Amino acid sequence: MYSAGDVRIENVPDPQIIEPTDAVIRVTRACVCGSDLWPYQKMEHIETGRVMGHEAIGVVEDVGADVRTIKRGDFVIMPFAFSDGTCVFCHDGLQTSCIHGGFFGTTEVAGAQAEAVRIPLADGTLFPVGAHADDALMASLLTLSDVMGTGHHAAIIAKVTAGKSVAVVGDGAVGLCGVIAAKRLGAEQIIILGRHADRIALAKDFGATDAVSERGGAAVERVRELTGGYGVHSVLECVGLEQAMNTAISIARPGGAVGRVGVPQEQTIPGSEPAFYNNVTVGGGPAPVRAYIEELLPDVLEGNIEPGRVFDRTVGLDGVPDGYRAMNDREVIKVMVTP
Ligand SMILES: [Zn+2]
Repeated sequence: MYSAGDVRIENVPDPQIIEPTDAVIRVTRACVCGSDLWPYQKMEHIETGRVMGHEAIGVVEDVGADVRTIKRGDFVIMPFAFSDGTCVFCHDGLQTSCIHGGFFGTTEVAGAQAEAVRIPLADGTLFPVGAHADDALMASLLTLSDVMGTGHHAAIIAKVTAGKSVAVVGDGAVGLCGVIAAKRLGAEQIIILGRHADRIALAKDFGATDAVSERGGAAVERVRELTGGYGVHSVLECVGLEQAMNTAISIARPGGAVGRVGVPQEQTIPGSEPAFYNNVTVGGGPAPVRAYIEELLPDVLEGNIEPGRVFDRTVGLDGVPDGYRAMNDREVIKVMVTP
């Protein structure tokens, strides 16, 4: 990506091992993220461009001399952040705050919408999928690199547990995975806030019990009606815009919690007063998806959850620029890339 709206497919030198802790993986599936749409809409021109993409699964092609657990030929999940797996924050299960870590698809570290990608700190970063995974599971395995783990993180931060009422703000891939996560954690009522009929239908397949298509004050009123006038215990904020955050805080019941995973597009968090007077906990941030793979993988392998259903278009590398356009136009939910 060179600037907003300008995505090109180019031939670049093959990624190489630079540090002895690196690996190189051949990407078998990657995808376009809802968060890639923010630079797609706003990025200033940069001369060198930025190799995009932070979600992938693939096969390890090469490892550096100090890589111990990851081996050539391993089939791996690449979380959207790299991490050493050994620092104090990695031990706390917050790999997205790793003191040696960082994110793929930035101007410093090339991304995964590519045939191959260099993986810093391979032992800490990559998750080898031991099982012989069926081709039909690939889409769902790919979601463990970001959106499924991110939806799960929102649910954990929003304190979803059995019997709770939950609202999910946003019907993009993360919001839909948030519905899966809430259902999986035993939520009794799951309200999806969104306005696309196809996405709401999928949300209901995933376990949503109600849908609210209004916005702003009307949405708040509707959620209150659906919850005996009180609001929900848990809100998953999966958009990142001011209005979505405002709605999220306003539909939490007193003592409730908001888990925010939408990348914020404003400097301040709105809803300070209702959050204060209702004792609403507001938390969240980049999901430590590396920490969640272990927990979520068995349910994917056993087919108990099918987050891969959020992909409704598959393209080759040449189709990636149009994939961005289609996601940005809300023509599709999420685009999978098979390099
Ligand atoms: Zn670390």
